[in-house]
Amino acid sequence: MRVANLSGRAVIVADDRALDVHTASAGRFGPEPGRLYADWPAFSEWAGSVAAATEGVTFDRRDLEAPSPAPTQVFAIGLNYRDHAAETGLAAPEAPPTFTKFASCLTGPETDLPLPTDTVDWEVELVVVIGREATGVSAGSAWSHVAGLTVGQDYSERTSQMAGPAPQFSLAKSFPGFGATGPWLVTPEEFADRDDLAIECAIDGATVQSGRTAQMIFPVPELVAYLSSVCTLRPGDLIFTGTPAGVGVGRDPRRFLVPGNVVTSRIEGIGTLVQQCVVGRT
Ligand code: ZN
Repeated sequence: MRVANLSGRAVIVADDRALDVHTASAGRFGPEPGRLYADWPAFSEWAGSVAAATEGVTFDRRDLEAPSPAPTQVFAIGLNYRDHAAETGLAAPEAPPTFTKFASCLTGPETDLPLPTDTVDWEVELVVVIGREATGVSAGSAWSHVAGLTVGQDYSERTSQMAGPAPQFSLAKSFPGFGATGPWLVTPEEFADRDDLAIECAIDGATVQSGRTAQMIFPVPELVAYLSSVCTLRPGDLIFTGTPAGVGVGRDPRRFLVPGNVVTSRIEGIGTLVQQCVVGRT
């Protein structure tokens, strides 16, 4: 099942058609996408009975917004692919390095990306959406707490990220539009192998990142277990799971986004994000 946020309303997407959840459920679920996650098991059961492909309506992809637009927590993991750790000159971690992206940076799949400086970088990432509260869960039961997967971009302003005696990641990764997500949430049973998905990013059509999520040092179940050993994960919360090699700061010479660039981010079995880079604050 694919669940999207179409102009602020929860929809089920099938064959490029969207079925409004609130209308189809006679007001039981929705209309806001965030409300689905609070009642995810009941929603999933109901959604299995609807025929979105035949009853839905066509829509414009530019009207899609973030699948989980107002999570209570957004976790992001650094250095979760060995080849990316190597390109940044850092050792592979022994525990998941964790920061946040503040929720105000979250946007949908097809957006303009204002560049606040000339050192903005790209990081395509698999994003986990939590569907059932998780406190101290084991890796073995972690997937049962996941509502679904979506594509994310962890856009990063490298100058402020590395400034100061102790680099901080959270603000530098939370400028407006720096948390593009979508185009929709795909439920875990839709994938032939939910732990091994092709993941790639292209700029102006030329591939800059290409990997597989099976290369993660800490796979999704281990991340859910690790994070839930500290924090209670709540329905709708997001986990940005880290990026494979090929970011701009790891290149020689370094490369960053400029106005006019088009960033395309794709994960197998989910879909595509498209950001058009534009002049931002100066
Ligand atoms: Zn990242």
